[in-house]
Amino acid sequence: MSEELICITCPMGCRLTVDRQQDGSLAVTGNRCPRGIKYANEELLAPKRVVSATATIQDDGAGERALGEVSRLPVRSTAAYPKQDVPELLAAIYALRVRLPVSRGDVLIEDYKGSGVDVIATRTMK
Ligand code: SF4
Repeated sequence: MSEELICITCPMGCRLTVDRQQDGSLAVTGNRCPRGIKYANEELLAPKRVVSATATIQDDGAGERALGEVSRLPVRSTAAYPKQDVPELLAAIYALRVRLPVSRGDVLIEDYKGSGVDVIATRTMK
C-alpha cells in the first residue's frame, strides 16, 4: 500500500509516493532530489517536530502588568524533537517559571533528557 506525502524540505513541495518494502525499507518516488528520500524516511519511520510554545513568567510581586503587556514568554526548541515525546517536552516547558529579564536566545532548558535539544526564549522581555 502506498502513502502520499508532500516534502516540506524546500519550497518545491514535491508530492512523494512511498511504498513499504518487505524488508521494512521505504521506496520513495516523486522526489526531485535525494532530500525527499531522507524526509520520507524521517517522517514515516521517526517523525520529529520543532516545538513552539509559551512559558509562564514568574510573578516577582512587583505589581500588576499593564493592560496588553505580554504575560507569557514565547519559546521554541533549538531542533526537531521526536514527535511521540513532544507532550513530555511541552509539560517541561509548561512547568517552567521564567524570571525576567530574558534575552532572545537565552537557554531555558538545556540538553533536554540528553537529546541535545535546548529550549530557548524567542523574545527579549525586560
Ligand atoms: S524532494 Fe527535494 S526538491 Fe522536492 S521538495 Fe523535497 S527537498 Fe525540495
